[in-house]
Amino acid sequence: REPTDLNALVNEYLRLAYQGQRTKDKTFTCELVNNLDAHLSKVELVAAEMGRVLLNLINNAFYAVREKQKTAPLDYKPQVTIHTCQVNRHIQIGVGDNGTGIAESVKAKIFQPFFTTKPTGEGTGLGLSLSYDIVTKGHGGSLTVESREGEGTTFVIQLPALS
Ligand code: ADP
Ligand code: MG
Repeated sequence: REPTDLNALVNEYLRLAYQGQRTKDKTFTCELVNNLDAHLSKVELVAAEMGRVLLNLINNAFYAVREKQKTAPLDYKPQVTIHTCQVNRHIQIGVGDNGTGIAESVKAKIFQPFFTTKPTGEGTGLGLSLSYDIVTKGHGGSLTVESREGEGTTFVIQLPALS
């Protein structure tokens, strides 16, 4: 583990993931909203592991807006939002989207290994269970979700800050 600048890490992975989506589909565009707290303390973490978590969450967000786009009105504007902020001795990183949202009946299962609603070949169902373990067991943090079906989803990672 090393003291890490999360804003830089988050930015890097957001760009990386968006480029990946655009390589797969050159017609895809999405508004990326950055809401980063400039005064964030550093966090002790394994950057490669937290990078994987961010990539999982961000790619899920892109998937959700692309799914929504298939049936949404023409004026629908896909949006993926990243925020960081400090709450007392904790750092929060949020990954939000205005995509499909998650049905209540599905929400209870999304952190289970191999649970996926995606067609074969598009999802392994391992992203969130792995992310959950990395954040909680690996970094002493928490990973939570808020979602409204049809409107969007936000995942929030909370990690202990360095003093
Ligand atoms: P996978 O992406 O391979 O399906 P994950 O563990 O990353 O596996 O996610 C599990 C399931 O959680 C997804 O199949 C999807 O149903 C749901 N999910 C995760 N993130 C989102 C999101 N941002 N919006 C809507 N549904 C989501
Ligand atoms: Mg996934």
